Amino acid sequence: MQSSVKKRIEALFLDNIGKIVTREMIIEVARDPNSGVNPENWHQRLSELRTNDGYEILSYRDRNWLKTGQYLMETSEKNERASSRVIIDPETWKEVLKRAGYSCQWKDGNTECGLKQGDTDPVGGGTVRLTPDHLTPHSVDPKIDPKDPNKWQALCGRHQIMKKNYWDDQTGKLNTYAIVQSASIDEKREIYRFLQQFFGDENTE
Ligand SMILES: [Zn+2]
Repeated sequence: MQSSVKKRIEALFLDNIGKIVTREMIIEVARDPNSGVNPENWHQRLSELRTNDGYEILSYRDRNWLKTGQYLMETSEKNERASSRVIIDPETWKEVLKRAGYSCQWKDGNTECGLKQGDTDPVGGGTVRLTPDHLTPHSVDPKIDPKDPNKWQALCGRHQIMKKNYWDDQTGKLNTYAIVQSASIDEKREIYRFLQQFFGDENTE
């Protein structure tokens, strides 16, 4: 069911390369054809198309002429990196989950996410589903890592996406570009002013 919602959203974008796809269009295709129910978590599926499948789906965060609720796929080309990853051993995953107390292990400063499997995500909406996150993506030993619980942690969907977006799997460095991209307009403006000062073109305004 989940994957078919994702597939329908994927097909919508592939049918509209270079054209604006609206939130309403996405909800329309995401709706269950039999029950007529709108999935609450279509946004999550959209994120998966970006981070797991490697599609570049632009929003108002990427192009200032796009409005909130407007999306754009300029090309069907996928980012190859997205698909190559290590899969955890099912027994190891059980161990990791148990150690995590069946809750998301994401830490932001001193605050831990702590959402439990089956909880309702108060920020992103939808039901929390914990999935395995590989801690050291750039130094992979494909033979050992799937069975080593210390190489993994449990994350909720929102934090999986956050990590994939903000950390570069290849270099293990912060993806500064993605952070700026997802910042609010006010934050972007602040960064813009900083850059103008940094490069010495304050007088352009
Ligand atoms: Zn979380």
